[in-house]
Amino acid sequence: MIDTHAHLLKGKYENTNVKDLIEKELKNTDFIVNVAYDLESSLEISSQVKNHNNLYGAIGIHPSHADKSINIDPKTIMTKLGKLLVNEVAQGTQKIVAIGETGLDFSKEDYNEENQIKWFLENIKLANYFHLPVIVHTRDAWTPTIKIIKENPATNFLLHSWTGTNQNLSELKELENVWFSISGIATFDNAKDIQATLGNIPIDKLMFETDSPFLAPAPNRGKVNYPTNVKDVLKFVANAIMMNVDELESKTDANAKTFFGIKDAKG
Ligand SMILES: [Zn+2]
Repeated sequence: MIDTHAHLLKGKYENTNVKDLIEKELKNTDFIVNVAYDLESSLEISSQVKNHNNLYGAIGIHPSHADKSINIDPKTIMTKLGKLLVNEVAQGTQKIVAIGETGLDFSKEDYNEENQIKWFLENIKLANYFHLPVIVHTRDAWTPTIKIIKENPATNFLLHSWTGTNQNLSELKELENVWFSISGIATFDNAKDIQATLGNIPIDKLMFETDSPFLAPAPNRGKVNYPTNVKDVLKFVANAIMMNVDELESKTDANAKTFFGIKDAKG
């Protein structure tokens, strides 16, 4: 079982040694993609992935961080992220497997649309330069997100923590380069709109994630989340779409390996 999106990072888990936490969670998962949201977490993840087998990373700038960085030229940060990727290539390791999370988030009062789009496009540019896929966070911003995705057909995008409607889905399903990842949000009692889309997401584009430490799936909603809980998300979806749990697991694990270009995970 694979968790395609977690934040096992300093300061995210109280009174916990992150290194020990990662080792413990890797014992019960095949691999975990640890996802950054700013420069600091990108640096932390690039060093973490060197120390743990089956821990992979994504580096990039989240739209909420873009809001905080309105006076910074995104290119200066992208150059720093690019250096991390160049170092990886030089060392012959390929543990950074995506750019992200990045995207658009218009849910907060003080967001700046133009600035967020600028940062999102710079993240995509970096991904294309290094032939990496992009992990997308989108909230209250479907129209511009879909527009940007359509304008970048050469980039593979993973819509993380899927919260779209069937209408969003029908538009996105048409695009060869778009993949979907389901989080614990789909298991919540008030997530009927998301649940209504589950049977319509193409199985060959589907993955699972926890977004740990956030979004713990039912029956642990509200608690601290861990990658191991990804199985609860998978079971919920298997039940919702009336599919065998093992079959769904093996198909979606294979999807994750294809999407992130991972060949050597343990099963
Ligand atoms: Zn996240």
